[in-house]
Amino acid sequence: MTDVVDVRTRSRMMSKITGSNTRPEKVVRSALHRHGLRFRLHRKDLPGKPDIVLPAFDTAVFVHGCFWHCHDCKYFRLPKSNQNFWRSKLTGNQKRDQRNIKDLCD
Ligand SMILES: [Zn+2]
Repeated sequence: MTDVVDVRTRSRMMSKITGSNTRPEKVVRSALHRHGLRFRLHRKDLPGKPDIVLPAFDTAVFVHGCFWHCHDCKYFRLPKSNQNFWRSKLTGNQKRDQRNIKDLCD
């Protein structure tokens, strides 16, 4: 199946996805805030720069999107083009996620 947009448009669209302050992140943040919880965002001094850190609970939260973090769920779909590139990119992301979680727990 071909893409619905041309190659350059797709490339531009993908490069705009930066992965911080995403809509799902904001949803989680406002829910935590509503419950009166205090948190810090994107702490650079912690492995993986967690999206949300709840110091009172010694807890880090990662709000991971299905695509970039290669979920085994119904929303993940490998792109039809450049499959080798995407496979290695996304498995690289998964390995990094696992390493960061391990480092946080150590
Ligand atoms: Zn998912």
